[in-house]
Amino acid sequence: MNTSSVHARRRPPLPPGASLAKVILTTWLILMGGLTSMRVLAGETIESPPMQVLARIDVDFNIESLGIPLYAHLVDAEERRYVLTIDTVSHLDALKRPYQILDGDATGRGYILARDRSHGLLTRQASGTLSVLHDDGRRLILRGEPGLDERLSTLGFDLKRLGHTPMAFRPARRERVLEAVAPLPAVRDMIRKVSAGGLRSHTARLSGITPASIGGLPYRISTRHTASGTPIQKAGQYILEQLKTFGLRVSYQNWSLHGYTGRNIIGEIRGSRFPNEIVLVTAHLDDMPATGNAPGADDNASGCASALLAADIMRRYQYDRTLRFVFFTGEEQGLLGSEAYARSIANQDIVGVFNMDMIAYNTLESNPVMRLHIRPTGNPGHAGDALLANRFVSVVRTYGLSSAITPINTADGEDASDHSTFWDHGFAAILAIEDDYNDFNPHYHTRRDTQDILDFPYFTAFTKASLGTAAHLSGTPSALPLRPDFIVSSINLVPLSPVQGVSFTAKVTVKNRGTAAGDGGLLDVWLNRASAAGCDSAGNQRLTVGELGPGVSKTLTFDNLLAGAPGAKTFRAFVDSACEATEGVVTNNQGVRPYTVR
Ligand SMILES: [Zn+2]
Repeated sequence: MNTSSVHARRRPPLPPGASLAKVILTTWLILMGGLTSMRVLAGETIESPPMQVLARIDVDFNIESLGIPLYAHLVDAEERRYVLTIDTVSHLDALKRPYQILDGDATGRGYILARDRSHGLLTRQASGTLSVLHDDGRRLILRGEPGLDERLSTLGFDLKRLGHTPMAFRPARRERVLEAVAPLPAVRDMIRKVSAGGLRSHTARLSGITPASIGGLPYRISTRHTASGTPIQKAGQYILEQLKTFGLRVSYQNWSLHGYTGRNIIGEIRGSRFPNEIVLVTAHLDDMPATGNAPGADDNASGCASALLAADIMRRYQYDRTLRFVFFTGEEQGLLGSEAYARSIANQDIVGVFNMDMIAYNTLESNPVMRLHIRPTGNPGHAGDALLANRFVSVVRTYGLSSAITPINTADGEDASDHSTFWDHGFAAILAIEDDYNDFNPHYHTRRDTQDILDFPYFTAFTKASLGTAAHLSGTPSALPLRPDFIVSSINLVPLSPVQGVSFTAKVTVKNRGTAAGDGGLLDVWLNRASAAGCDSAGNQRLTVGELGPGVSKTLTFDNLLAGAPGAKTFRAFVDSACEATEGVVTNNQGVRPYTVR
């Protein structure tokens, strides 16, 4: 960057395609300070509001005291903290501080911050092809022209869009729990259950190495790019179905921003004492590159696999607070899914946001360093973020993970992932990431970001510490009382495409995936029912399941099912359909199988 210009007020750079007259006018307006500009239209003089500019102000004190709208609080390559503001020159002058105008005409514009993780290499490669307003040595600031997002992410930059509303400032949330954690037996149990095998199978399915079972059928996820259509839809459905099988309350959130559409996936374990206090565990599901195969194993199947495995383990315990797992799309287009989500929870009591993005790459035999990115000092949100990060560090120490993972708190305002969206909206949030400064994955955003380059012992330790942090943020976790939990684990139709008017057979396997034996009650089946059945509604046929021990499966056979009119159907099975058993999870008792009558 041009360091000599930072402390001097200077003329705005020439916007692309601007006419000389416009530049002169803009310069005049800047020189005139905050004077209201006048323009003449159809012979009449109309007053316009004063011109807004995008400016950088270097600050090393509490940024709230500036008293102007702020849109970002960043740290440059030389470790200088600065803010971005969009305001009039007269307001900037009134601050009586040096500032640097980055764009002399900010009215109605959007901006993109493009993070260069390659220590300037990407920036040098792209120089001359981009109209850069500012280069702080870590990131570029550009006008958000149409199509620029796709160009920048294809070049390898990580994007964030500058918000259209100023950053919200809230004091650090009151926290009842001490930073240092005391070991809890339930957390020790949960951490012990985190296995490399569990992470490997989720990562393999999300990155397309092995087919995933989606809607009851095998599907290979070749890409998770936000604009890929069917593949990203399927990947989202996989996440939702997994969370549902675990017994979480699940939902999609559709979003539409900056010309992109997508959906976030949400799963929730409700808190037993303070259900309105919410801990968020987040990861982005979408990936790069934009065309062709995009395995995105590290970026960010790793964070998703970690959140999925944590949800599967954590749902067997109960918590004071609500734990919510959220998977975003649109991250690579400038944190779009998280922006939509953060807006939707503006009035909720969020204890903290724990965001995982790229958590599995570590050069073999190198130190197992990972980073916790928090806001810079001087930001009112710093203390709340630091509390979350210190909790993680304490979990690593308390549960004996220090030899497997080395966390470093980094107060640099890193803006290249979804946690920074929550900062803008006034929530405490951290990014947990591999050592993105000194040991960055060289294959990220390419088709070589595959599972075989990952360090699974590192990935496993990272997940253990993340799970422990989420557990300790959620109050005092304790083991659930022993309960049965019946599910429909598979449905096989013989033949799969029966002929109209001819009878066929269904073999339905039910399983008790709970922690105690129980009576599976009645198993009802419907030949064609798309919607979920309520308790006590009768199917086309029913059989008695009987007593099942924990972990035990049983297959029941329904013969002489008569195939109806030709067309696509949904076969449905419902175990304990009278809802008599006291189950650990009551929302996972039904299963479906799509089929076609010929
Ligand atoms: Zn990522």
